[in-house]
Amino acid sequence: MANDTAGSIRVRFAPSPTGHPHVGNIRTALFNWLFARHGGGTFLLRIEDTDTARRVEGAVESITDGLQWLGLDWDEGPVFQSDRLPLYRDAADALIQRGAAYRCFCTPERLEQVREDKARQHLPPRYDGRCRDLDPAEVSSGITSGTPSVIRFKTPRHGETTFEDLIRGPVTFENATLNDYVLLKSDGYPTYHLANVVDDHDMRVTHIMRADEWISSTPLHVMLYSSFGWNPPQFAHLPMILGPDKAKLSKRHGATTVIEYREQGYLPEALFNFLALLGWSLDDKTELFNRNELVKAFTLERVGKTAAVFDRTKLDWMNGVYIRALDIEEFAHHAMPFLERDLPESVPRPIDRQYARRVLTLLQERTKVLSEVAELSTFFFEDAVSYPEQQLIQKGMDASKVQQVIRTVLAAVDGLEKWEAETLESSIRPICEQLGLSPRQVFGVLRVAVTGRTAAPPLFDTMEVLGRSHCLSRLTIAYRRMEDSWSAEIG
Ligand code: GLU
Repeated sequence: MANDTAGSIRVRFAPSPTGHPHVGNIRTALFNWLFARHGGGTFLLRIEDTDTARRVEGAVESITDGLQWLGLDWDEGPVFQSDRLPLYRDAADALIQRGAAYRCFCTPERLEQVREDKARQHLPPRYDGRCRDLDPAEVSSGITSGTPSVIRFKTPRHGETTFEDLIRGPVTFENATLNDYVLLKSDGYPTYHLANVVDDHDMRVTHIMRADEWISSTPLHVMLYSSFGWNPPQFAHLPMILGPDKAKLSKRHGATTVIEYREQGYLPEALFNFLALLGWSLDDKTELFNRNELVKAFTLERVGKTAAVFDRTKLDWMNGVYIRALDIEEFAHHAMPFLERDLPESVPRPIDRQYARRVLTLLQERTKVLSEVAELSTFFFEDAVSYPEQQLIQKGMDASKVQQVIRTVLAAVDGLEKWEAETLESSIRPICEQLGLSPRQVFGVLRVAVTGRTAAPPLFDTMEVLGRSHCLSRLTIAYRRMEDSWSAEIG
């Protein structure tokens, strides 16, 4: 591999397949990817699937789909930790040999008892170290009798562990506050800590960039590297992502998985840009960056220490900017699947592409997310429109005035050779003055009659795209509805 030379940057995205990747996971992937691409390094994908109880069906596909959708291509992998179990077992044995780990035969019941005792004494729920210094004979009899056991790290009881975080600077933990963490479980599967350290070493990872929440695991990892006699990679813990209420971003802030953003009609380029600014900035003001600009500009020095706030309004704005920048072909390409998916069932499928393209031309300016296009354009596709008839009656008008408007408009457009926005406008606009009404009143009547809405794309363009026969029949229907309301009023 071209980039795979000694000394060059190697980073990894190491998700656990315990669910669909959320925006926080993907922000981690993105920062690693940007860092690798910026430095001409290698980006690896490793699936940390050793927690068999928490594995979720379909999560791996969801991770790879999400990465692909955002264009976060990986150079190596995916490597699955579940394919590498012997490596971790050997590593755990090696630590026992070195006196850095020990076998623990405590039963789950005893461990529960220890937890309860500690809780009663208001102490942290740490293992009490009963098996730390078993004599070798006891250990071998435990093994030969087949007593279930785990392998634990022999965390030093005194002193402190310090590491240099590229974002936070020096970070120090008192060893006495740490546990004798389990490295290998009784089923022979490694815990996250062991597999993660063994793999980062084996895969020659140079920089670990991961979410803040892992920082408390790092002192153990640092001690593991040193017990193995390996040089640790560099660490960079990325700032947390908060919701607008400053609580950790979660389900109750709305969509959190990447899939949901795709389904709601965000463009990958827009989400990419938006996620890059969650914890990184070039100059605290530039907001819009394309992929190449981000690759060029991204450095760890500009990653912040303070938590980033996920601002949905900003994402919507940004998505709108990216949508408007598309040419109509691209916009149609992105929007068609949403029309197919979201237009009412009564609209025949497949949707007529030529016609849809003309409709979409009118919508592009006002679309923030693609999932809006069907709702914004239903009246273009359905045979009839429905609306409360009161909506036809504009301020300062009554039903008969509405009828007069419609009658005059029908007469004016009757002989039109070309049903085009310009000719429609030049035949209809003079009617305002003729009837002593404002354009707001006249166009308001027509807009409701033709679209069933009080807000829609520009009226004459809409009428052009909708076509002569739909417009005429909708105007006639509106006229009749006024008749009914009128006779109801006097009757
Ligand atoms: N498997 C961990 C996760 O799901 C990886 C943390 C790390 O990058 O070390 O986030």
